[in-house]
Amino acid sequence: MEVRLDHVGIAVTDVRAALAFYRDALGLEIEMPEEVMSQRVRAHFIPVGECALELLEATAPDSAIARYVEKRGPGLHHITLRVGDIHAALATLKAKGVRLVDDVARPGAEDGLVAFVHPSAAHGVLVELKQATDKTPRFHQSTAVRLGAFELMTLSDGFIHLDGGAMFGTVPRTLWQKRLPPDDRNRITLGLRPLIVRGERTLLIDAGCGDTMDAKLAGIYGLDRRYHLDHALAEAGLTVDDIDIVLASHLHFDHVGGFTARQGDGTIAPRFPRARYVAHRGEWHDATHPHERNRASYIKDNFVPLAEAGVLDLVDDNAELMPGVTLRRSGGHTLHHQVVMITSQGETAAFTADMFPTAAHVPDAWIMGYDLYPMDTLGFKRVFAREAIEREYLIFFEHEPSFAAGRIRESQGRRTVERVIG
Ligand SMILES: [Zn+2]
Ligand SMILES: [Zn+2]
Repeated sequence: MEVRLDHVGIAVTDVRAALAFYRDALGLEIEMPEEVMSQRVRAHFIPVGECALELLEATAPDSAIARYVEKRGPGLHHITLRVGDIHAALATLKAKGVRLVDDVARPGAEDGLVAFVHPSAAHGVLVELKQATDKTPRFHQSTAVRLGAFELMTLSDGFIHLDGGAMFGTVPRTLWQKRLPPDDRNRITLGLRPLIVRGERTLLIDAGCGDTMDAKLAGIYGLDRRYHLDHALAEAGLTVDDIDIVLASHLHFDHVGGFTARQGDGTIAPRFPRARYVAHRGEWHDATHPHERNRASYIKDNFVPLAEAGVLDLVDDNAELMPGVTLRRSGGHTLHHQVVMITSQGETAAFTADMFPTAAHVPDAWIMGYDLYPMDTLGFKRVFAREAIEREYLIFFEHEPSFAAGRIRESQGRRTVERVIG
């Protein structure tokens, strides 16, 4: 069985004094405390490398932690080992005559399963076994919000898994892994979240990976389309025939794979039969003339059939798609990467595509390794983030795995994102 150290639990009586050591003297960062009502305990997690310390503070005199401290004083309380399959682990331990506190696993924090091994079996240490749940979020709801005269609907085309290091460029793993934990292949789960803007016309911005990617690539990228754009459109009460305009923020496969679809006869054709497709002229040129550094990001089947079908409109910088919906060239990620500004009745939303791929990317210097012109990304983010904070833009994060949109807040130089949708 594969066993990893998850965390070490430490019972404390005076949490402020404990923080003076763990936070102030050691310089570790403490997460927001978690109240575990059933145990009458407050847990303060302190990430340390791949593992964590958990300071346990009793919140009532009859809690197990209070009784423990009364008997033995503060100190080491338990260690938690992570196993892949807790039922199999318990069966193995039982077969070897190991004394258990819990014969069967029970629900623990964060929907995981836990079971305790008796301290006598573990030579004086209380051992908690834990099986983490598959934390992959599932979108099953298209959420619609009003923004002035517009209706905005966030959709999903499933999930993709990309190398965590590549997603965060020069940011060290010790920093980003707290926000988006990697799997054992160092990949992080990313959402694929196109957006519908309904105003005078119905606009779809980006369309996820679609169904034309070959099986080998889909495997490499861990493409998960158990729930995809057709499901999301149906939930939103729409079909492919309702879309008037399809816009590409840029032509990378994880944004425009869904622009085309495989037909019954095996050919690939535009997926939205009534729509005009819009792309930046410069981006189109780059996508159709790839070089060694960007070749893996462009898949011709996603966009060449649009030109062949005569449904493609190329635009220059700062085009207006309909009143209130304008494009703003950011560059950075690709030379002609565009964000979409949606403004109505004094409110503004922005679909930032790969400028702020996830909410973890809101600090100016958290820039993807994929970006071709990172200094341009930095220049754009400096200006744009300031604007977004001051004017309270509603920001859509296309690759954020756990929610769709929020507002960037800043206090004492630290940026956070307040969730607004999903
Ligand atoms: Zn991209
Ligand atoms: Zn992307």
